This record gives sequence, structure tokens and C-alpha cells, in this order.
Amino acid sequence: MTISKQRLTVELKAEASALGFELSGVCPAVAPDALSDFARWIDAGYGGQMHYLHDRSEAYGHPRSILNGVRSLLLLGRSYLTDDAEPVTVGSGRISRYAWGRDYHEQIHKDLKKLSGFLQAKVPTATVRGVVDTAPLLEREFARLAGLGWIGKNTLLINRQAGSWFFLAALLTDLELDYDGAQETDHCGTCTACLDACPTDAFIEPYVLDSRRCISYLTIELREAVPDSLREGIGDWVFGCDVCQDVCPWNQRVDATPEQVFYPRPGSNPLPLVELFDLDEKQFRTRFRQTPLWRARRRGLLRNAALVLGNQPTSGASVALVKGLNDPELLVRGASAWALGNYPATAARDPLRCRLDMEEEEEIRVEISRALERLGG
Ligand code: SF4
Ligand code: SF4
Repeated sequence: MTISKQRLTVELKAEASALGFELSGVCPAVAPDALSDFARWIDAGYGGQMHYLHDRSEAYGHPRSILNGVRSLLLLGRSYLTDDAEPVTVGSGRISRYAWGRDYHEQIHKDLKKLSGFLQAKVPTATVRGVVDTAPLLEREFARLAGLGWIGKNTLLINRQAGSWFFLAALLTDLELDYDGAQETDHCGTCTACLDACPTDAFIEPYVLDSRRCISYLTIELREAVPDSLREGIGDWVFGCDVCQDVCPWNQRVDATPEQVFYPRPGSNPLPLVELFDLDEKQFRTRFRQTPLWRARRRGLLRNAALVLGNQPTSGASVALVKGLNDPELLVRGASAWALGNYPATAARDPLRCRLDMEEEEEIRVEISRALERLGG
């Protein structure tokens, strides 16, 4: 006896829920309407150095680029909201909430594999593929089509019950399933809290983010020096930023997840910064390889740490920044030079002059000279 698509969809959603996906919805595999907005966004340069978006822009045109013959998508949401953050103390940096626990890709891939196995046990001829983050799929738009929520002015998917503190994943299949209706209503109303609170004014207008100004992009994706004009706005964020989610009214009454895997690893937030400057590549790998922070690599994370220490000068940190000033990585040297320009001249001037005497890279010489100018020569 073959199973009806209604019955199969109900059972698939029940299995997803048992695996820990609080949100699920199904939509047909179509060319997404939001594709033209996405293309305009890329063409405007708002994706910054995320060239993979541009390189795969055609693949975003239809989910068949991910699974040949796909007819249906099951969109899934999994909460990562844990208990409230520890307060950030001077000398520490703030980490975006999604990165407090273990790398979520691993856990979600494992569960998607189980869900694929469940579906194929029901329909052995089915082709199925689970994706999280890395495939060319406009996940938020498909989640909206599957009824999971609306895309808010902060450009994130918002669900009336779960807010926006959840990871999105998708299961694609060539089977026809029972489709949910798209979410057509937008519940942002007249609220502008996210737009007003963004520390670096990254929203061009409601629903349009210029990634190049967003702290998440600057501290995670950008492989170069952070533009001078945005360094102060980074404040104490050393990896990612949650401001536009923290202020969203839809996130104020959401229950924490019971899922232990997303609970903070010890010392994961806030992150003590001074000790990072003692880690060489090997030690850094050992400490961060299994965590989301690995994505920034040592040079990116130390660059960010130097900027945060520059934004909150503290007595013990100048020694760490002097180490940074003499680091083999350009990114770390440049950011450390900038940061030392915010420290008392008695601690910063001599190390900066000394480095200037031996520095060969022009861009770092410029950073050091500017820092010395700020210190009065
Ligand atoms: S993540 Fe932070 S910097 Fe980026 S848009 Fe939101 S509030 Fe602005
Ligand atoms: S903060 Fe307000 S405007 Fe921004 S996404 Fe939330 S509800 Fe919408």
C-alpha cells in the first residue's frame, strides 16, 4: 500500500519535531520571487567580499541546482536560544549567540541525515538531500513560502512564537508533499527598533542590509582590515553581532531551548581577549577548531580582539596589543596599531615607534603613523 502525501507529510513533520526541529513547513520547489531582489542586492555590492553569492547567483534561481528533479522542500527551524548571556567585562569580547555552543552544522547535518533515512524508509525510491547554510538556496524566502514566518525589517525570518533565534535548514525531495500556505503577512508594523539600534547603520532602508557595514560580516567574513570609520561601532563585539535581534519585540518572550548542544561552552561568551595574543596557529587550532569561531581563523579573531581592546582601553591589555603589533599577520599588526593609538602615550608610543622602524609593509606603516599622530607624535 502506498502512503498518501498528506499522511507522509504529517509523519515527516512529526519525525522532524522528534529530532528537535521546533518549526517545520513544506513548500513546492519553485523559482523564488525574491530572486530579482537578491540579484539587485548583489549587483549593488551589498554582499561585500562574499563572492560565492555572486559566483553561484544562477544556482539560486531554482532548487533543482541542489537536487535534480526536486518537487518539494521541507523547511526546518531549530532554536538556539539559551539562558541569558554572562555580562561582558572589560578585557572581554562579546560573541554572537549562535556561536556559544558547538558548531551547529555538525549537529544539524546529523539530524537531517536521520530525517532523510526516515523518508527513504517510507518511500524507498525517493531522492532526498538535506542542506544547512552552504547550498545555494534562499532559505529565508523558502521558509516564508513554507509558512514559517515573515522576513522582518532586519532581514531575518521571524516566527510569531519562536522569534528569530533559530537556525534554518531544508530537506529537498523529488516527492510531492502536502504544501503549507506561504506567510503573506508582515508583523513588523511601525516598529523600527532594529534599524535604530544598529551600531554601524548597516540598514540602507527597511529590509535591505549592506553587509559591508554589518558587524557580523566585518568580524566573520571580511578577510581584510576593517574600514577605519566602522571600527568604533564594533564596540565590544569580537565575533558577530546580535543587536538587531536583541531589540526585536518578537524575541522578548521566547522560551530557551532545552537542547544542551547549543548551550555555551565554558568561557565561550564573553571571550577573554588578552590571552588570545599568546596563541600561535597550532594552539589556536586546538582551541577553536571545533567551534564556529574557527571560521574567522586566528588572524581574523585577533584582528577583532585588537579592535575591541582599542574600543575599551584597559591597563592589562596594552602588553597583549604590543604582541599583536609584532605578530606575523598583517591584519593583527594593523588592528593592534590602531588600538594602541587609543591607549596612554606612556604605554603605546615607544612600542609603536620601535615597530615603525622595522615595519616593511606600507599599509601597516600608515596605521602606525596614524596611531602615533593620535598620541601626539
Ligand atoms: S547584526 Fe549588528 S551590525 Fe549587523 S545589521 Fe544587525 S545590528 Fe547591525
Ligand atoms: S525590531 Fe521591529 S522592525 Fe525590526 S524586525 Fe523586529 S519587529 Fe521588525
